[in-house]
Amino acid sequence: MRQLHDYQANAIAFLRQSLAKGHKRPMLQAATGSGKTVIGAHITQSALDKGKRVCFTVPAISLIDQTVERFRQEGIDNLGVIQADHPATDPTAQVQIASVQTLARRMFPGTDLVIVDEAHQMHKAVFQWMGHCPELPFVGLSATPWTKGLGKYYDDLIVAATTGDLISRGFLAPFRVFAPSHPDLCKVRTVAGDYHEGDLEEAMSEPKLTADIVSTWLEMGENRPTLCFAVNRAHARKLQDEFTAANVSCAYVDAYTDREERKRLCEALNDGLVKVIVNIGTMTTGVDVDCRCIILARPTKSETLYVQIIGRGLRTAQGKVDCLILDHSDTTLRLGFADQIHHDTLDDGRRDETRSRNAKTGTPKLPKECTSCHFVKPAGVHVCPQCGFAPARREDVETAAGKLVQVAGGKAQADHSTKQRFWSGLQWYCQQRGYNQGWASHKYREKFGVWPRGMLDTPRAPDAECANFVRAGMIRFAKAKQKQLREATNG
Ligand SMILES: [Zn+2]
Repeated sequence: MRQLHDYQANAIAFLRQSLAKGHKRPMLQAATGSGKTVIGAHITQSALDKGKRVCFTVPAISLIDQTVERFRQEGIDNLGVIQADHPATDPTAQVQIASVQTLARRMFPGTDLVIVDEAHQMHKAVFQWMGHCPELPFVGLSATPWTKGLGKYYDDLIVAATTGDLISRGFLAPFRVFAPSHPDLCKVRTVAGDYHEGDLEEAMSEPKLTADIVSTWLEMGENRPTLCFAVNRAHARKLQDEFTAANVSCAYVDAYTDREERKRLCEALNDGLVKVIVNIGTMTTGVDVDCRCIILARPTKSETLYVQIIGRGLRTAQGKVDCLILDHSDTTLRLGFADQIHHDTLDDGRRDETRSRNAKTGTPKLPKECTSCHFVKPAGVHVCPQCGFAPARREDVETAAGKLVQVAGGKAQADHSTKQRFWSGLQWYCQQRGYNQGWASHKYREKFGVWPRGMLDTPRAPDAECANFVRAGMIRFAKAKQKQLREATNG
C-alpha cells in the first residue's frame, strides 16, 4: 500500500476521532486529485486489520471495474463484487464493492462499515440502507460535499484537503482563467437550481459563440491537450464539427461511450493525436488524462459541477506549468475561482442554516475580467498580471476633469525570437499563398500590438502558434461574411 501524504494521514486520524466521538455518518471532503481512492483504501485496510467487513459503494455500475483495479493496486485482494453475473462475485470476501443501482434492487449486504464514494450524489438506496441500520457507520467521500440537504444524512464534515490547499502545496497544478466571450443567458430558465438544459443549448449554440470558442482556442490554446465541456450531446456535436472544420483533431465522449473507446481516446489525447475532447457531464474516466486546457462552454449554477470540471485540469504532470481555462460561460465571474469555493459545514436543507453557513464562510469577492486581454483577475487586483493593463481608477477619472482617461495598457511582452518566429511564419504564408506584406504586418500587429520592426523577412514553415492564429482570423472572417450574407438576404 502506498505511503500516505501528511494531509491524507491527518484526514484518517480526524475520521477515527469523529467515529470515536460517536458520529455514525462522517463525510470526508477530499478534492479531485488528492488521492481520494487511496484514502478510501487505507480506511478499508484499517477496518480489515480489525477483522471487520467493508462495503464500498460507487455511483455507477461502470465504475466497479476501475474501483476493483485501484483497490488491488493498493494491495487489497480479499474483495468481491456485488453485481449480477460479475466474474469477481464472492460473498465470502471481507470487502464488497457495489454500485448504488445494484443495492437498490437487492438486499443490503451484511457488513461492519459502509464507504460511500461520490457521496454528494445522494442516492436513495444509500439513505434507505442508513434508515434500516441506524447503528451501522457510513463514511461519505466527496470532493464537493455541498449538495442541499446532505447534512440531513451525514453528521460531521472532515476536510482532508481543498483544491486551494493542494495547489499551494504543489500537489495540484495552478490555473489561469480567461473569459473571452459572454453568453446571453437572459432567456434561460432555472430548473432545480441549475440552468434549463434545452434553453441553455439554444443560448450556447449561437453561431458567433461556437466560432469564438474555436478561434479563441486556436489563438490562445497553445495547442494544449484540451477537454471541452458542452451543454448536451447536440451542443457537443456542434462544437466537434466546428473544431473539425478548423482542422483540429477533435473527439467526442459521453457517459455512453464504451470504456475501451474512452480509454483509447484519452490515450490519443495524451499522445497528441487528438487535441480536443468535447464531452458532457464531468468526464470521470478510468484513465488519467493529461489535460492542460479546459474550455468551459457549459454555464452552470452548480458549484459542484463547476469545481468537478475544473478539477479535471489540475493533475500535475511532467513539464506542466499550469492549466489554461477558457471560460466561455461566465461561470468564474459568477461563482468565483474554483479553488476558492468552500463551505465549513454540510447543508441540512434548512434556510436559516444555509444563511448562517454562508455568513460564517464569508463569500469571497468575485474576480474581475481584464478588459484588455480577458484574463480573469482576483478581486482587488488592479494591474492585470497577464498583460499589464491597468484600468482607469475612479480617482484618475476625476482628476481628468470629467474626461474619461484610460491608462495605457499593452499586450503580453514577447521576446525577440518569439516575434521573429511568428514573423517568419507570416512570411511563409505570403510566399505560399501570395498574400502581401500589408497583410503580414497587420497580422503581426494584431498579435503583438506593435508594427513589425527589426525583423528578418525570412520565410519559415509556421509553428502551431502562428498557424492557429492565422486560421482563427480566417474563421472570424468567414463567419462575418456569412452573417453579412444572411442579413443581406433577410433584409
Ligand atoms: Zn490583461
